[in-house]
Amino acid sequence: MIVALHSAPKGFFKTDPPYGSDELLKFVRKAASLGFKAVQIGPLRNFVSIEGERLRRVLDSLNIERNVHVGGIYNAKKFASTEEEYVTAQKQIHYGITLCKEISSTLVSIHPPLFATRDKVSKKLLSKTRTRFLKLLKEEVDFASRNHIKIALESFCYRPFIFESLQEFMQFVSRFPSEKLGVLLDIGHVYHIGIDLYEAAHAFKYRLLDIHVHDATLEKDFRTATHLPIGKGAINFLEFINLLQEIGYDGWLTLEIRGSEREIVKSKEYLENTLKH
Ligand SMILES: [Zn+2]
Repeated sequence: MIVALHSAPKGFFKTDPPYGSDELLKFVRKAASLGFKAVQIGPLRNFVSIEGERLRRVLDSLNIERNVHVGGIYNAKKFASTEEEYVTAQKQIHYGITLCKEISSTLVSIHPPLFATRDKVSKKLLSKTRTRFLKLLKEEVDFASRNHIKIALESFCYRPFIFESLQEFMQFVSRFPSEKLGVLLDIGHVYHIGIDLYEAAHAFKYRLLDIHVHDATLEKDFRTATHLPIGKGAINFLEFINLLQEIGYDGWLTLEIRGSEREIVKSKEYLENTLKH
C-alpha cells in the first residue's frame, strides 16, 4: 500500500474553485515536495481547462503515480427524469476517462447520483434512477475498458444516495465484470454513517481499487464530523490497516482530509509507520 494525496492543504488555493491548469500543477508539485509518490486529480468540478499533456509530463518528471477522481454531484430525481442531468453526468464521467488516458492513468473514480431530500423516495423513482445509472455506467465502463481504464464507484451506499445498504450497492456493482468496475471505499463517510468498517472491507474486498482516508466521528453534521486529520476522529486506524492487510488490499490510501500542511504530513507519516510495523 502507498499513501496518496487527494486534498490540498488548507489555504493552499488562495481562491474558491474552479482552479486552472497552473494551480493544479502547483498542487502536484506540492504533493511531491511533501513526499507523496501518488496523487489523485480531482474532483473535476474544481478544475477548468486542465492541460492533460502538460500534467502528464509534470507527473512523469516527478515520478508520481496518478489517478483521476471525477466525483460529481448528480441530482437523482432530475437524473431519472431529464436528459439534461443524465447528459451532465455522462459528459463528466466521459471527460474523466479521457483525462485519465491523457495522463497515462488506469483508474477513474466516480460518485452515484443522490437525492436532494432525505425524505422517503418512492420505489418507482428509486428503481428508475438505478436503471438509468446502470445504463450510463455500462456505456462509460465500456468506453473506459477500451482504453484500458477501470472505473471505481465510491462507496456511497446509503441515503440520500441511490443505494440504501452495502448489499444494494454491491448488487449493483456485481452487474459488471470485476475487471471493469470496482469500488473506492471512503472510510470516513462509511464510518460516520454507522456502517461497520470490517463489514464494508469484506463486502468490497474483491473489487477494492482505492480508499479515501480521513478520520471521522459519529456526530451528526457530516461537514464537521468527516475529513478530519488522522487522530482527530474516532477511527481505529491500526485496526483498519490490519484489516486491509488481512483482505490482501495492496492499493492506495488516498488522503482526503481537511487539514493544514502539517496535519497532512502527520497523517501520511502515521499511515506509513503503521504499514511498516
Ligand atoms: Zn471520498
